[in-house]
Amino acid sequence: MGEPRPKHIHTVVNGLNGRPTNLNNVETWANIPRIINNGAKAFAKIGTDGSKGTKIFSLVGKINNTGLVEVPMGITLREIVYDIGGGIPNKKKFKAVQTGGPSGGCIPEKLLDLPVDFDELTKVGSMMGSGGMIVMDQDTCMVDVAKYFIKFLTEESCGKCVPCREGLDRMLDILTDITEGKGKPGDVELMEELGTMIRETSLCALGRTSANPVLSTIAYFRKEYDAHIKDRKCPAHVCKSLITFSVDKENCNGCTKCAKVCPEGAATGAKKKVHKISQALCIKCGLCKDACKFDAIVVV
Ligand code: SF4
Ligand code: SF4
Ligand code: SF4
Repeated sequence: MGEPRPKHIHTVVNGLNGRPTNLNNVETWANIPRIINNGAKAFAKIGTDGSKGTKIFSLVGKINNTGLVEVPMGITLREIVYDIGGGIPNKKKFKAVQTGGPSGGCIPEKLLDLPVDFDELTKVGSMMGSGGMIVMDQDTCMVDVAKYFIKFLTEESCGKCVPCREGLDRMLDILTDITEGKGKPGDVELMEELGTMIRETSLCALGRTSANPVLSTIAYFRKEYDAHIKDRKCPAHVCKSLITFSVDKENCNGCTKCAKVCPEGAATGAKKKVHKISQALCIKCGLCKDACKFDAIVVV
């Protein structure tokens, strides 16, 4: 596996053949013809004081219009999500947007009017990074999201330095425990401590940014962590160990749909009779809830 090394002299100072060399990605190079043809001033007219020009984002997730979007620096998140992205499908509520790729932070609704540029995203605990923008709706569990990204990053870590290698593994253990109903008081504070240590002492940018998903979700969605740890509940009904499926007797008309789709034989009942779900057999796949047209499957 390739391992980063400390760079004391950068390529812009001493690169190819000992000459100053620009090593950039294609998106950055695509701006150069415009600057050469129209001049630096024309280019700098677009954007904010610290971030000039435009930026391409990959807009995905719970959003009506997905795809690559090129926007002027300084546009607000709200404009990207609602004017360009067309808002959240199925009349669901916006919950957060993660920017910058797997090690970006999750930005909550109260910061939707944030102007998008390098400095502003960093200030709120995220980053421009690779230009990813993942929109999440009300059905997203932010603890589960943090776990998902930390798992990805533990696999990406090259293992060269201890803070990133061991710190991320430890953080994943804690997040897994929390989503499985085994969270303990003090876990959140421990992850904050770990995250700060990883950020400050890792060798390369992967490690230095890797704690963003955890630190940002703790900062903006602390209540969800507390619900998992103290109440053993997943408010978004995502973490399987913390939810149960049952039948609402008032709403169930015995249509048998849930029993037909249940892969485990957990949902049972006679036609036109109230059905029931065996907690011992239920694997919490959610198929019965999707199938029931009468809002009779309750998840708590
Ligand atoms: S921070 Fe992580 S990815 Fe970077 S060198 Fe250290 S172990 Fe490798
Ligand atoms: S699908 Fe809904 S209404 Fe039909 S039997 Fe199951 S719970 Fe009752
Ligand atoms: S959640 Fe899945 S396994 Fe459980 S009762 Fe519904 S369909 Fe069956």
